[in-house]
Amino acid sequence: MIRVDRGPKPEALEAIRKAEVKRLAAIVRRGRPQATDFGNEYNVVRSALWRAQRRKCCYCERRIDRAYNDVEHFRPKTRAYRGQDRPTHGYWWLAWTWENLLFACPLCNRRYKRSKFPLARDSRILPARHNPPGPERALLIDPAGEEDPIDHIQFVPFRQVGKKKRWIPVARGGSRRGKKTIRVLKLDRPALVTYYGDHVSGLVSHHVKVIREAIRAGDGCAAAKAWRTALRKLFHPRQAFKALSYDVLDHHFPLMIRQQLCLDLYRP
Ligand SMILES: [Zn+2]
Repeated sequence: MIRVDRGPKPEALEAIRKAEVKRLAAIVRRGRPQATDFGNEYNVVRSALWRAQRRKCCYCERRIDRAYNDVEHFRPKTRAYRGQDRPTHGYWWLAWTWENLLFACPLCNRRYKRSKFPLARDSRILPARHNPPGPERALLIDPAGEEDPIDHIQFVPFRQVGKKKRWIPVARGGSRRGKKTIRVLKLDRPALVTYYGDHVSGLVSHHVKVIREAIRAGDGCAAAKAWRTALRKLFHPRQAFKALSYDVLDHHFPLMIRQQLCLDLYRP
C-alpha cells in the first residue's frame, strides 16, 4: 500500500452530497438505513479516483480496470464493525464525502474489508454528521491519510525449504496498525503473494542485478546510473506494487551501502 493523492474534489460531488445526506437523514430518523438506501450516486467520482490512483487498487496496489471495480468507503456507510461490543451503525453521512472515497478492487473491498472498521480499544466513536477523524482512532491505515503506509507495512523475504523465495507484508517495527491492516485486507493472501513474487522476479530482480554488477565492478558512476533507472521504472506513477519494490531495494542495498555510494532511496 502506498499513499494516494485524490487531487481536487470533482465539482459534481458537492451538490449530490448535500441532496443525498438530506435524503438519508430522513431515512435515519425512521430507523437504520439499508445498503439499498444509498443508491449509487457516489459513482460520479469513479473515473476521477481511478485516474488519481493511477489505475490501481488503493489497498493492494494491483492494476485494475475502471469498469469492474468499486468506489470504496473508507469509513463504511451502512454498517461498521468497530470491534467487540461496539455499536455497528455506519457512517451514513460520509457516503458522498470526497475524503472518505477510494477506488478498490472487489477482492479488497467486498471479500476482505467489507464493513470492518476496527478502532483502538480506548477510541471514542465519531459522532453522526461530524467530519473524521474527530476523536476516533482508526486501526486501519488510510492510504489517502496523513501518514505513509510504508511506515507501518514492510515486505520481507520468506523462504520455505525447497520452495522459491517469496515476499510477504509484515508489520514494520511491530506496528499494531500495520498488523491490523494486513489482517483485515488480507494483504498476505496467496494470490497476492504470487503477484508479489512475479513482480520481483519479472521486474525488480533485473534492476537489482544490473546495480549489483556495477557495484562489484567498482564502477560507482554506472551503479548510480542503474540506480536512477531502477527508481524511474519501479516508482513510475502507474507501476504496481511500489511499496514492495521499495523494500526489495532496501533489502538488497541497505542504508550503509547506499550511503557509501550516495544512492538515495526515496519513498515512492
Ligand atoms: Zn485490491
